[in-house]
Amino acid sequence: MNKNKEGKNNKQNKGLLISAITLIAIIIILAGVAIYFATSNKNNDDKTIAYTDLIEQISYGNVEKVEMTVGSTSIKVKMKDQEEEKKSIVPNTEAFIELVQQKKLEGNDIKLEQKSKNALLQIPATLLSLLPTLIMVALFVMIFKMQGLGEKGQVYEDTERKTKIRFEDVAGLDEEKEELIEIVDFLKRPEKFSKMGAKIPKGVLLYGKPGTGKTLIAKAIAGEADVPFISMSGSEFIEMFAGLGASRVRKLIDKARKLSPCIVFIDEIDAIGARRTSNSGAETENNQTLNQLLVEMDGFSSEETIIVLAATNRPEMLDNALLRPGRFDRQITIPTPDLKGRLDILKIHSKDKRLSDEVNLESIAEDTAGFTGAELANILNEGAIIATIKKHEEIENSDIEEAVKKVTVGLEKHSRVYSEKDKKLTAYHEAGHAVVSKYLPTQTDVKEVSIIPRGVAGGYTMYKSDEDKYYISKTEMKEKLIALLGGRAAEKLVLDDISTGASNDIEVATKIAREMVTKYGMSDNLGPIDFQGKEQNDMFVFGENIGDKIGQEVKLLIDEAYKEAQKLLMDHRDKLDTIAQTLLQKEKINEQEFKKIFE
Ligand code: ADP
Ligand code: MG
Ligand code: ZN
Repeated sequence: MNKNKEGKNNKQNKGLLISAITLIAIIIILAGVAIYFATSNKNNDDKTIAYTDLIEQISYGNVEKVEMTVGSTSIKVKMKDQEEEKKSIVPNTEAFIELVQQKKLEGNDIKLEQKSKNALLQIPATLLSLLPTLIMVALFVMIFKMQGLGEKGQVYEDTERKTKIRFEDVAGLDEEKEELIEIVDFLKRPEKFSKMGAKIPKGVLLYGKPGTGKTLIAKAIAGEADVPFISMSGSEFIEMFAGLGASRVRKLIDKARKLSPCIVFIDEIDAIGARRTSNSGAETENNQTLNQLLVEMDGFSSEETIIVLAATNRPEMLDNALLRPGRFDRQITIPTPDLKGRLDILKIHSKDKRLSDEVNLESIAEDTAGFTGAELANILNEGAIIATIKKHEEIENSDIEEAVKKVTVGLEKHSRVYSEKDKKLTAYHEAGHAVVSKYLPTQTDVKEVSIIPRGVAGGYTMYKSDEDKYYISKTEMKEKLIALLGGRAAEKLVLDDISTGASNDIEVATKIAREMVTKYGMSDNLGPIDFQGKEQNDMFVFGENIGDKIGQEVKLLIDEAYKEAQKLLMDHRDKLDTIAQTLLQKEKINEQEFKKIFE
């Protein structure tokens, strides 16, 4: 007993020594970073320039140089007529870089310098070359620690990791929460269930698109049950050196055993739990990791209350072995939020924001069908940023609307200059979409038409959001095709020439038409058959030239839709002209103005 303890102490001492060295190294680095930031933050307020002013100055050609740091929204600006540099904050760095590059193309002699993120780069190269060594040392320390130092230290570290998130922080998902409350109960009172002879579930799989709140709800379970939350991402397992994946799983579960009852959360489980097919390279490595996980889960004893939650957005990729009884035998789908869910999410995330009373969360919820929780949270945050830039007292409705557009279509680019010819083309293209959909009963109303470039689009037509619905009819899909091709049809009709501007419309239309035929069985000639067959060989069941037939059907759908779009535009040529002309004058038409034209 005593000896054992001493051995442990020895190990601990060694570990401590190495920890100390790492600590000193880290302190040196931190000090460097701190000095860097301290010196660079000296600039005070009158040395900053507002983003909107900056854009203006750039378009006047007054800016000589812009210095950006990767991963930071803070930039330095050097004006042509001034010695000192100014600072500014850029809301969307990608869009900003694009804008500057566009300016350069137009002959503006502005310089754009992009520095890499790290202040470390400022430190001489000799120090930099030590970095790998430092990282190695840190790694060793981590490995030593994982091999089980004093239990006390670990428990301390992990109880800190208890989350404060509760079910009330997760909006919507009422049914899913109800299902998961059971798990909370297991974690809280395992003996209640084992007395009854019930086997406690070991694993729960959460399916859902990124941003739907899988991690959030997993944390909420741990929070509700007041147990530690240990998490790791599937991709972390495979990034390790060969053989380490499996041992990491072992250590993760060992840790969980010590902390039981607890939750183990494995994000992106598809990274290790993908179907075990071939035996080559990386695959074998993943198999070892997966096997280890399965072995560990099979080995949980009845006294250990460990529940493994795993998340993925690609359930079809998972190895069936994962889904067997006693493993992840519970699966819960986390859907994108419905109208009420979206409203609840918006409410939760607007709590800590200064929203004006005029902001109508209901109408934002209505306009954002299909958005995930993460996207909605992002919209409110972007809204706050936009309000700050525009120097509003509070976040206004217009800020939120702008944020929605920014998240969906990209940032407005007032500064991009384009020729009259391009403008006319864009105006007719967008007017084409808008007019055609006005005459299609299943298509939603037009909300806004614009020829101000945004993101990568030269212009856009925005529709009112659909109510949430589960099914889309064939008629509706056909009409969607017509609306999509309305832009191209208008170009052809009015200018007798067509442009590359329709490429995205065509891409989307083709995808829909192909799915109508191969996925939803909507082709009259080919019938209700799934032609998307999971296995390559499946297709041969339908004969060798089935591909040709599918192609013909897809083409037929597109051709019909294009003809219909042209017909609608010819029948309503006056409306097409009015809208295009209005766009050329005002650049933007809103819902009311659009409706008026048709009165
Ligand atoms: P996932 O793990 O499914 O990719 P996350 O749980 O990481 O999604 O969600 C990202 C963020 O989005 C959360 O931190 C939260 O701010 C927000 N969010 C997502 N879903 C919800 C929800 N149902 N209620 C409240 N916030 C949500
Ligand atoms: Mg997540
Ligand atoms: Zn278009």
